[in-house]
Amino acid sequence: MTANCFSGYKDLIKEGDLTLIWVSRDNIKPVRMQSEEIFNTRYGSFPHKDIIGKPYGSQIAIRTKGSNKFAFIHVLQPTPELWTLSLPHRTQIVYTPDSSYIMQRLNCSPHSRVIEAGTGSGSFSHAFARSVGHLFSFEFHQVRYEQALEEFKEHGLIDDNVTITHRDVCQDGFVIKKGDTTSYEFINGESAALLNANVVFLDLPAPWDAIPHLDSVIATDEKVGLCCFSPCIEQVDKTLEILGKHGWTDVEMVEIQGRQYESRRQMIRSLDDALERLRDIKKHKIQGVERRKRMFNNTVDSSDEKIEKRSEEGIPLTEKAKFNPFGKGSRIKEGDDNYKWKEVTKVETEIKSHTSYLTFAFKVINKSRSDEKVNEVLQSMNK
Ligand code: SAM
Repeated sequence: MTANCFSGYKDLIKEGDLTLIWVSRDNIKPVRMQSEEIFNTRYGSFPHKDIIGKPYGSQIAIRTKGSNKFAFIHVLQPTPELWTLSLPHRTQIVYTPDSSYIMQRLNCSPHSRVIEAGTGSGSFSHAFARSVGHLFSFEFHQVRYEQALEEFKEHGLIDDNVTITHRDVCQDGFVIKKGDTTSYEFINGESAALLNANVVFLDLPAPWDAIPHLDSVIATDEKVGLCCFSPCIEQVDKTLEILGKHGWTDVEMVEIQGRQYESRRQMIRSLDDALERLRDIKKHKIQGVERRKRMFNNTVDSSDEKIEKRSEEGIPLTEKAKFNPFGKGSRIKEGDDNYKWKEVTKVETEIKSHTSYLTFAFKVINKSRSDEKVNEVLQSMNK
């Protein structure tokens, strides 16, 4: 039995552990610790034996080749969030800003039994696996299915709470039967798995073909939440039509726009500064026209030309450049006490969040209330 290396916390790094090595913000490498191996970076080499035994989160330093400087790495315990940033991409993936929002909207908890299609690179599968009761993931691409199965086994997800099935869900639906290519283990003469899902996540090009197959595998006596992750509004449109036809209600579409704001100070410029700048531009324009006239009449010599050029470019001829708040000048350090500043925020554009439209919908198949069932659910939630 392989322990799930994404759940629970460990103190020390052990032989055989999957670690995530943080080299830089956009370079995190999954590495399994093996005492005879070496982790090579362009800054130098880090023998695994120097990492094993250290606490998770440690900074490991080495002297860089041919210099007296140090190179650092940080060795971290795997989490679904870090895995999303470091996993081998086999497809487009769902990033944490989306997955966390979706799980929150669908009330994911240890009570949840989730259907996910397709598995893709398994980014969202790892996030689901940490929070939910059971995840049934479906993938129709043979190689991707095999790679995900292998990876989920290595990470202990299959032994814990994940089932993966090789299936075209649009054509063949979600029922898992004996004889199917699946990691599901049938017990006691069971011929089909009981999915009884109360959460559905579809990251497929044609979710409208999969939605009609859901009724036979979702819970009938509780509210089932569904989310479709689609990059185009035309896909959303088609999905909405089919959701309506199949009795899904409370439909809402959301788009997550991940933004990181950087706090900065911006210099306050006065109207006088602007007027001075306009006068400057005008002066340089006139000087330029005169210079060209003289050049045309061949009356400008080379030293004249140099002086004119400096002045035209706004470079003072003698004293050190005076700061011009609108143009080129000597650089002023942000926050310099000699100038007035205001606090501003700047948007950082390079944030990884694959923007798609998230269509949420809900369905209750059996609308009659069973107090016995309500108590059962409440008790399972209190566990
Ligand atoms: N959500 C995944 C993640 O976070 O890594 C990425 C999913 S990827 C964008 C979509 C996957 O759906 C692909 O791997 C594709 O092979 C699979 N797929 C497409 N149509 C399918 C179908 N009808 N049945 C099952 N899987 C399908």
